[in-house]
Amino acid sequence: MHKKACRAAGCTAPLHLAELCATHYNEHEERARLRDTAVSTLHSGLIDGDMVGDESLRHGLDALCRKWQTACFVVQMEQGTAPMPLDEADFAVEWCITLAEDIVKAQRQLSNGMPAAQLHLPNHDWVWERFRNLEAGLRSNGTPRSIG
Ligand SMILES: [Zn+2]
Repeated sequence: MHKKACRAAGCTAPLHLAELCATHYNEHEERARLRDTAVSTLHSGLIDGDMVGDESLRHGLDALCRKWQTACFVVQMEQGTAPMPLDEADFAVEWCITLAEDIVKAQRQLSNGMPAAQLHLPNHDWVWERFRNLEAGLRSNGTPRSIG
């Protein structure tokens, strides 16, 4: 069976590509591009090839890059550490990408002239709360880890 309408919820627009209408396909592509940029930012510490000018944003990114490296190392080695248990590391990789997407968007807003005081990183607080819980020896959600 061939689906005739866009697979986005509630959308009846005609298909364009990848089972999506033109609008939803463009949104999908935009999200994929942002994610790619966020991942390369986590690897390089650069956004769109440039250093982050704003000091507070740069420090936040540096700290996030260190978490990213730890989480990636744990996933690759399949060996957890006290502040980055193996069963949390796959999730931690995703938290890093989510917050890096915020940082990429914020850097672009700065480049477009937005004052730094107006920047908002919607995922900053919950991501760092999870990392703080892990560092404190808890599960990322703040509950005790079972000793086993
Ligand atoms: Zn659509």
